[in-house]
Amino acid sequence: MFEKAIRTYLKTHHFVSLRLKAVLFDMDGVLFDSMKNHAAAWHEAMKRYHLHMTPEEAYLHEGRTGADTINIISARQRNETASEEEIETIYQTKSDIFNTLPQAERMPGAYELLQKIKKEGLTPVLVTGSGQKSLIERLNRSFPDIFKPELMVTAFDVKQGKPNPEPYLKGLKKAGVSANEAIVVENAPLGVRAGVAADIFTVAVNTGPLADEVLQKEGANLLFHSMTDFNNNWESFYQLIQ
Ligand code: MG
Repeated sequence: MFEKAIRTYLKTHHFVSLRLKAVLFDMDGVLFDSMKNHAAAWHEAMKRYHLHMTPEEAYLHEGRTGADTINIISARQRNETASEEEIETIYQTKSDIFNTLPQAERMPGAYELLQKIKKEGLTPVLVTGSGQKSLIERLNRSFPDIFKPELMVTAFDVKQGKPNPEPYLKGLKKAGVSANEAIVVENAPLGVRAGVAADIFTVAVNTGPLADEVLQKEGANLLFHSMTDFNNNWESFYQLIQ
């Protein structure tokens, strides 16, 4: 199964080899079990401003910048995009609600996988659309000695959020590797699209309520149902791309 996925990737993206040097990790829904909180916070914040977005829909928009998400819902419901002020207010409300919710746990299997990656001398890179200032501290607390600050791409580093490939292209650049020397680990459909658009082998980890097909349709090269599942398969996958 892994051999076939690698062959298909090489053919589609016109590479002759995949030799792993860096692993680009999305954060929410991959490293932290935080998507339930984000979905609930989005739903509630939108409701306060008379905009309608179900918690489920939040999973489909995951990875977009806050402004993009608000504009899409506003355009759909009111036929116009939101003003900058409104975007700021709604996004602040969403963040405030999110911060009242219990802090999300580390995704089971994530730390184990990161330790293996580090031990192999591979470079872990964080690529998130999140713009929370407390992010670095929290990552270091939950995943000690894994991510270096200069190997993080956050909302502050990019003009275009996912599904644009920019965040993942920045991640490659920060790690100093080419597309066929990395893999992306993503849980969100738009994140998968961004990884694929950056020509990177993209591993989907379906940790939320969406159907597998939603992630496969975006071009995921492999799909696991949990980080534990990916971690358990790591050795057999890595031996093919080292
Ligand atoms: Mg995610």
